[in-house]
Amino acid sequence: MTRKAEIGERLGEVEAQIAQACRAAGRGRDQVTLVAITKTYPADDVRILAELGVRDVGENRDQEAAEKARACADLALTWHFVGQLQTNKVRSVVGYADVIHSVDRARLVTAISKEAVRAGREVSCLVQVALDDDPERGGARLADVPGLADEIAGADGLRLGGVMAVAPLGEEPGRAFGRLAEVAGLVRGRYPEATMVSAGMSGDLSEAIAHGATHVRIGTALLGRRKPFVR
Ligand SMILES: *Cc1c(COP(=O)(O)O)cnc(C)c1O
Repeated sequence: MTRKAEIGERLGEVEAQIAQACRAAGRGRDQVTLVAITKTYPADDVRILAELGVRDVGENRDQEAAEKARACADLALTWHFVGQLQTNKVRSVVGYADVIHSVDRARLVTAISKEAVRAGREVSCLVQVALDDDPERGGARLADVPGLADEIAGADGLRLGGVMAVAPLGEEPGRAFGRLAEVAGLVRGRYPEATMVSAGMSGDLSEAIAHGATHVRIGTALLGRRKPFVR
């Protein structure tokens, strides 16, 4: 089987799962965007995904993402950055990312704003929420989310998109996504245009859609299991 046929088959399965979850939640399929997470996979796979109709791709490491975005610059794709972000990588990330999902501290807001203005771009930013209230693995504490949303909304060059989270290990994902839905509602109450809820990966996309996810971030189910890699 060619790689394109394989990815096409996997995409069909993911699409069916998304459609089923939308039906079960009484939501329209057009309310959920599939973001293909292409980390560790080559630019050729991004090209195949684009040929198969995927319009949104995401990466979690700047160096790899920058190379792939350059190699795919001829494609009309929206690039999402979903990984932990250090301020010294912000200039590079702002060079290709349309949406940054992992904004979890005020210093990052300042840095992204500065580079967005410099580049003359508008970058959508999501507040990443630590649903276990432990900011260790990335994400802001629940109590800090509204303040960060204010910072983004008030920053030049940035658009507040909404919120993002990864389900914590060891908890039923639906419960955790319920907390995300609550804080998403809070943010939307102040900023009605901040409608994005980025939640759900290969293992929990249905639960995320049941709890209002507008963007699911799918890697493994589309491209296969990643080889573990050493930095
Ligand atoms: C890798 C990654 C994903 C995709 O995870 P899969 O389980 O492979 O679908 C989603 N979100 C983030 C932040 C990631 O780093």
